[in-house]
Amino acid sequence: MNYAEEIRKLAAEKDALILVHNYEPAEIQDVADICGDSLELARKAKEASASTLVICGVYFMAETAKILSPEKTVLIPRPDAGCPLADQLTPEMVRAAKSAHPGAPFVVYVNSSAATKAECDITCTSANAADVVRSLESDTVLFGPDANLASWVREQVPEKTVITVPENGGCPIHHKVTVDEIERLRREFPNATVICHPECAPEVQKASDMIGSTGYMIRNCGEKQEWIIVTESGILHPLKKRYPETAFHGIEAVCDNMKLITLKDLYETLAEGKNEVVVEKETADRARKAIERMIEASA
Ligand code: SF4
Repeated sequence: MNYAEEIRKLAAEKDALILVHNYEPAEIQDVADICGDSLELARKAKEASASTLVICGVYFMAETAKILSPEKTVLIPRPDAGCPLADQLTPEMVRAAKSAHPGAPFVVYVNSSAATKAECDITCTSANAADVVRSLESDTVLFGPDANLASWVREQVPEKTVITVPENGGCPIHHKVTVDEIERLRREFPNATVICHPECAPEVQKASDMIGSTGYMIRNCGEKQEWIIVTESGILHPLKKRYPETAFHGIEAVCDNMKLITLKDLYETLAEGKNEVVVEKETADRARKAIERMIEASA
């Protein structure tokens, strides 16, 4: 069976929109209606007129789509695709931090569960974290779970005190990138510009020429002829497709959770309407306020 063709036929028959994260395998990105980073997928899920959304990414992304579109059917081909970063911040931790810092708003990275978002004031993505923090009136802001992203926010918004919860949370894939690896690639490709994702450690951010979300990379990497891309390796596929004349060099960084979905999984999910995402109404209503506040702050 040609799964890609059958998936496109089924999506049309079932009025389904396939939204795919930039880190997914190339063959999944190639059958998508929309590819993007977390912010782009959240926005498109909210605007979509299709009755069914199929989210190819990790579970919190499917929850976010369901929260923003409660009237739609949201499916995820692999519900076991989790995010170890999202697991590092629980609703209890948010409540404890808020009671220790009364009045300080909690900015939560979208890489978090629906239950955790429901306890927070506003969400952010790597694309808009600084804008979100800047938009808040309070001088002190609680931020989690990614301490590396928080460090980048501090650089851009020095007038605020940003307290991280947990103190040292991080994405295991991005956090293990080292300055040695950047330096080795610079020696190998001396004309390349280095751009890293803000989930990388502060010393890796400093060793890079630029810092940006995957969406930022896709929009801006046509500007130079040669790049060293410091983020999950799936991003190389859309970059090479969009800028065929540009040279891209990646790093050894693979998120296993982002590689779980196969074309067969996607086909079966669409064909059977299985793996529907459910978010309890009260949790969804509270989490939606935090997400919509972010969308307004970064409009
Ligand atoms: S790359 Fe990191 S933050 Fe993204 S899904 Fe994988 S573990 Fe989570």
